[in-house]
Amino acid sequence: MKITVIGCWGGYPAKNEASSGYLLEYDDYRVLLDCGSGVLSQLQNHMKPDDLDAVVLTHYHADHIADIGVLQHAVLIQRYLNGNQKTIPIYAHALDEAEFDKLTYKDITKGIAYSDSQPLQIGPLTFTFMKTKHPVPCFAMRIEAEGQAIVYTGDSAYMEEMSEFAKDANVLLCESNFYGDMDGSGAGHMTAREAGRVAEKANVQLLLLTHLPHYGDLSQLKQEAGEVYKREIAIARKDMEFQL
Ligand code: ZN
Repeated sequence: MKITVIGCWGGYPAKNEASSGYLLEYDDYRVLLDCGSGVLSQLQNHMKPDDLDAVVLTHYHADHIADIGVLQHAVLIQRYLNGNQKTIPIYAHALDEAEFDKLTYKDITKGIAYSDSQPLQIGPLTFTFMKTKHPVPCFAMRIEAEGQAIVYTGDSAYMEEMSEFAKDANVLLCESNFYGDMDGSGAGHMTAREAGRVAEKANVQLLLLTHLPHYGDLSQLKQEAGEVYKREIAIARKDMEFQL
């Protein structure tokens, strides 16, 4: 599996960048995890958006879904230009019916509901979901193929269950929207220390901090997570790639 950071900012995109979006590739299968503001533009540094095989969304906050509408336009326009007839599935929870309904657009994209009750096969990848602690329903996802695992927390306040969910993953893509001494629980986000605690308890190989704050010195996030978690830590940056 290969994961590429398309956008890593919490809340809104930094200048010329994107909010949440990660490209996951395995065996020529390409899945976009979240599709926030700026993602459609940044994604084109790596691939043509209409070549996506699937999109999987954690929740319906704008910084995770803002570019779904323009993705649909891109696929529609490319269909006129190149005759590509495929329909791109967009997997998401259906706990918000109005938002879920928007994922189906003509036969361009089709919304497909996932749940946390059973694993879901998406192309060659097995996805498992877990509901997080966030002001709106949001799901973390564990993605597995050939004995490797990537876990993406989505947005969440600290929860004990996250460590079990991320157990022994190769990569933990963990939100860290707050600095260590802050309290993210009310906003439904984690601090860097909490991200470190999840990574340590889960015994993951690499902690990738993301959903970054727009203030302060980001290197402090790495330092704070490192107080608890002693293996490799990286701060997400656009275009950063990890090959598993
Ligand atoms: Zn959110």
